[in-house]
Amino acid sequence: MSEGEREGEADATARCRSCNAPLYGRFCSACGESHAHDRLDLALLAEDALEGLINLDTRALRTIGDLTVTPGNVCRDYIEGRRIHYINPFKYALATFAFAYLCSQLLLYLHGQPADAYVARWTAFQMRWGQALNFVAMPLVAALMLPLFMHATRKLRWIEHYVIILFGFGHVALLTGLLKPLLGELGVGGQLLTGVLPVAYLSWMVVGVCETRWWTTIPRVLLVYVTTQLITTGLVWLVAPSLFAN
Ligand SMILES: [Zn+2]
Repeated sequence: MSEGEREGEADATARCRSCNAPLYGRFCSACGESHAHDRLDLALLAEDALEGLINLDTRALRTIGDLTVTPGNVCRDYIEGRRIHYINPFKYALATFAFAYLCSQLLLYLHGQPADAYVARWTAFQMRWGQALNFVAMPLVAALMLPLFMHATRKLRWIEHYVIILFGFGHVALLTGLLKPLLGELGVGGQLLTGVLPVAYLSWMVVGVCETRWWTTIPRVLLVYVTTQLITTGLVWLVAPSLFAN
């Protein structure tokens, strides 16, 4: 038996079952497979399912909690590679947008269609295309942020701005979804708050990540926000001009 063969045989018991990488300890360092148990049993299967759920829950709660209290830190952690405690920003935006959609549906169900035909038409369009439009707009918003913040203390790449936008828009969707009944009661004040919230929240994030000053950040974020609104409104006008007819 040659040297190589004998070595292969000695390693056979210490290789990962999933990816065949050499094994050092309970978990495979290449793919993360657990080797704590030899055979599958019901307890292990249940434990595995439960662990996945609990992991998702603690991550979700921590992402929601930290984005509420210290949004800049979440983005900075994520950008710098401390990602284990947080949900992927794209998934976060998907989940919160879905939640906001459900909230709107629920409100429509409870209060019925808006009495005004013009408002009803816009609401219907918003329900149908709003989320898709948001997902088209977000990479664009990130691209607009890039030149405006290129001289910030901390310069970000497009994808890093995109992370801020995904977390930011996602969390604003979650907050407005939760506050929607309240905002509806406030009338014009509620509408104003709906507009102010994304600008204020995104500015808060950018100040935290790019280390810019508040008073120079808010006008720039506002500019980005207004430009994005104009572009998306233009897109809507191209796709469905009838919406604008009185
Ligand atoms: Zn492995």
